[in-house]
Amino acid sequence: KPTVILVIGMAGSGKTTLIQRLHSHLHTQRRPPYIINMDPAVTHVPYNANIDIRDTVIYKQVMKQYNLGPNGGILTSCNLFATRFDQVMHLLEKKRDPPLQHVILDTPGQIEIFTWSASGQIVTELLASSFPTVVAYVVDTPRCVNPQTFMSNMLQACSILYKAKLPLLLVFNKCDVTRHEFALEWMADFEAYHAALDRDTTYAATLSRSLSLVLDEFYQNLQSVGVSAVTGEGMDDFFQAVAKGASEYEQFYVPEMEARR
Ligand code: GDP
Ligand code: MG
Repeated sequence: KPTVILVIGMAGSGKTTLIQRLHSHLHTQRRPPYIINMDPAVTHVPYNANIDIRDTVIYKQVMKQYNLGPNGGILTSCNLFATRFDQVMHLLEKKRDPPLQHVILDTPGQIEIFTWSASGQIVTELLASSFPTVVAYVVDTPRCVNPQTFMSNMLQACSILYKAKLPLLLVFNKCDVTRHEFALEWMADFEAYHAALDRDTTYAATLSRSLSLVLDEFYQNLQSVGVSAVTGEGMDDFFQAVAKGASEYEQFYVPEMEARR
């Protein structure tokens, strides 16, 4: 069975560029992935998507037809696509020759359109009920040098973990610009994080300090990798972490899903 990788992250974190990189990496290893683009508003997709939401729904027409703004248009397009996702599942289940190893899903630019909508939930549940599925949460590492931006990213990742109930992998992207070791240090040692906040006594900084104590438990159970979608650094680490996530899925998530049924 292929492993599904849901690529989620804030707008501009590098999801699409990363998928292009994963695509070319897997191609050189002669195990091409199956890629689904679920961003209806993207103008240029730099990889060859096997399934593209834009072939099914034209979001500008959806905006006009339902009299919606851009966000409403994207959200409604995703919902329309989700109603037909059983057909995508059917295609994935039929693909046997050669057997698929990875299915990669690119998600809309605005993160909450996928993570907090019916469409995201439907698509996630359909995929996760048939295939080992992991969430790759992409982080814009250079922006996380700011301790409070780092914290808001971690809270976002934490809430996705709760919502998706799937193994989550933190992908520190853009390592070519900023190495990600500082983030690993903050996760391993809250005193290092507190030191980075320095003597900032604003409410937000004080809250960030307290949150870092609470998140300690969350951090301990996560895998993190540093990658660069531009240079290709970290690809082997990434796929190792995905494989570990897939075995976590079998070990912990399948029994939980069955219990929920
Ligand atoms: P998305 O909105 O998450 O899909 O992000 P994109 O893939 O569109 O990337 C946003 C911007 O970040 C683009 O200008 C990319 O060229 C840039 N970018 C993405 N990944 C990297 C990376 O690893 N290193 C550098 N330096 N830039 C990157
Ligand atoms: Mg994108």
